[in-house]
Amino acid sequence: MSWRDEAPCAGVPIEVFFPGVGESIWEALELCLPCPVRAECLDWCLSNLSSHYDEAGVWGGTSVSDRRAIRRGTVTAADVWAAREAAMSMRMKAC
Ligand code: SF4
Repeated sequence: MSWRDEAPCAGVPIEVFFPGVGESIWEALELCLPCPVRAECLDWCLSNLSSHYDEAGVWGGTSVSDRRAIRRGTVTAADVWAAREAAMSMRMKAC
């Protein structure tokens, strides 16, 4: 069994995870942040997409700029997820 079998995004339109320039990534993050396989998803992206080709999309609850920072070692995935979860919580309180 693959981590992909547990992915809650199966069947979700790909555009959700590859929004256009200037479009929000929050729709994707609403699926990714509670996803039980976000670590595996992010690891797959970091391991299989070189930094040169990793120029779009939300993988494992991270944006392209998040992954650049993770690759540089200036943040960890845990840092990114914690910040996104805090922001998500603030968004939900504002609604
Ligand atoms: S982290 Fe996001 S893109 Fe990755 S499997 Fe989970 S829902 Fe899908």
